[in-house]
Amino acid sequence: MNIVYRFRIYPNKTQKELFARTFGCVRFVYNRMLAEKKEYYEKTGKTLQVTPAKYKPEFPWLKEVDSLALCNAQLHLQTAYKNFFRDASVGFPRFKSKKNPVKSYTTNCVNGNISLQNGKLKLPKAGLVRVKQHRTINESGQLKGATISQEADGRYYVSLLYCCEEPIPKNQTVKTVLGLDFSMKELYVDSNGYHADYPRFFRKAQKKLAREQRRLSHCEKGSNRYKKQQKKVARIHTHIAHQRKDFLHKESRKITNFYDLVCIESLNMKEMSQDSRFGKSVHDNGWGMFTNYLSYKLERAGKKLIRIDPWYPSSKRCSCCGKIRKDLKLDDRIYDCECGNRMSRDENAAVNICREGLRMAGNEMDAERKIS
Ligand SMILES: [Zn+2]
Repeated sequence: MNIVYRFRIYPNKTQKELFARTFGCVRFVYNRMLAEKKEYYEKTGKTLQVTPAKYKPEFPWLKEVDSLALCNAQLHLQTAYKNFFRDASVGFPRFKSKKNPVKSYTTNCVNGNISLQNGKLKLPKAGLVRVKQHRTINESGQLKGATISQEADGRYYVSLLYCCEEPIPKNQTVKTVLGLDFSMKELYVDSNGYHADYPRFFRKAQKKLAREQRRLSHCEKGSNRYKKQQKKVARIHTHIAHQRKDFLHKESRKITNFYDLVCIESLNMKEMSQDSRFGKSVHDNGWGMFTNYLSYKLERAGKKLIRIDPWYPSSKRCSCCGKIRKDLKLDDRIYDCECGNRMSRDENAAVNICREGLRMAGNEMDAERKIS
């Protein structure tokens, strides 16, 4: 089992310079390899194998940075190719842009070249970097690698990848079940009628962001005022991103602690964001991130996340009598049934999702029993 810990780091001036150079070298090597592979393929129709070592004689400054970072650039390119050949809709690997506000490089742990102790992180070439370690690391974890990144607001972070041997607890009995219905406005509504909504400070920060973005649009491009305002906008952006992540982590943690089985609808976010009814707010809503957190948190606790088929009529079915209302419109917020059931549309859907998930889980468990 892999666990990633992310900490803020505070490099000094020399370390900042080295990081900047490493980000640049990694991008350079990645783009070079991609360009050569592309050219070779266009000429011969075959794939070319390239390694970063090839460029070192011609560009000796590549030797000044962590060589494993360059190796990882090669791995990233290979993955990008693999993903493209597996599913062409992800797109052909693209060149890395200097303008991308988020910069990063990844390096591997070999012979203890990376270590974390007493508030310091030892990194190849950079030496000891000050780190704010806000949580303890699982003792059985083995450090595998580190990704150093700089966000748009200029802050530095490290993501440390640990491999844990610890067996996952097996939770056999399902005592508590929860169904979640995706909600555009409030993230989700659960089968107990609870509405998860982003906290007020989050909404406030979003308003502030809109205001500062408006101000930016009035600044003259390239001017000092513009650059200053741009930085301000970037800072609010990352602040909001952190607030969102924090909220989603806490929500998914709460659910994981209380429930043994959680059922959700599997939604295709890409299709939904292309649907004019939903628009780009699907991306802002964080549902994908949330279900991702929920999935691994449940798994680590030996619990289960069940995804319901997207064609299952969770909204149209009455959660009391099971009758399907074909005439239910999108803006009907209340589900009214002949049987006397009257409840909020989202809650009704969440109860259906919960029930269907339980049925699926039951079938799965039966199958497991038959096999064993
Ligand atoms: Zn009914």
